[in-house]
Amino acid sequence: MYLVEVESAAKDQAAEVVAPGAPSDRWEEFPYSRLSHHGDRCCEMARQWVVAMDFAQLNGASVESGPRWLREKYKWGPSPWPMHWCDVVERDTIDCGAHAALALEVFAARGLAAFPAQLVQKYSKEATDQWRGSWEAEEVSCHWLDGEHIYHEATAVLVGTGELKVWDGSAGSWVNPRQRGGYGSVLSIRVFADSPEAISNGFRWGEQRIAANRWQQIG
Ligand SMILES: [Zn+2]
Ligand SMILES: [Zn+2]
Repeated sequence: MYLVEVESAAKDQAAEVVAPGAPSDRWEEFPYSRLSHHGDRCCEMARQWVVAMDFAQLNGASVESGPRWLREKYKWGPSPWPMHWCDVVERDTIDCGAHAALALEVFAARGLAAFPAQLVQKYSKEATDQWRGSWEAEEVSCHWLDGEHIYHEATAVLVGTGELKVWDGSAGSWVNPRQRGGYGSVLSIRVFADSPEAISNGFRWGEQRIAANRWQQIG
């Protein structure tokens, strides 16, 4: 009798220990990436160049179109942090945090309300092992990899009343809010916004309601 009780208590405890949290738990305290500014001409000229380049590339297209030229200019891959504006324009390869920071700047310069967005996406252990290899080869932190899950950064843009689109700068495409469960699908999203309206009403992304400033589980 006693043994049975002990066993069942142990089982309860084990169940508690393995109770799955949200995949985003690992990145609960993780800040989104920001480019640093030297407070001098070097960084200001670099920033202005990016904005001017965006206006030129836009060439009369809708201000709500994704800045694909950034993905054409920069390969996605490991990049060292902290990174300054004057560093980023010199690089060939940048990670999703830098891609997201650049997209945020150009959307804002076009007069749109744009917000930093963090994602947790599901890939596969094989994919993340391969990425870990390339990041480690450059001696860059692999904090963003966790088994079959990855932490990723993107840029949310307000396109209607309370309605978001999410630009994945390093993929050069909009994130599909309806994709569920497949390779690359979004499991969690967190959108940072400080307006009182966003904080009280949140956003709509596809069919999802998204609260501001906290991880939202998708699906
Ligand atoms: Zn600088
Ligand atoms: Zn990423």
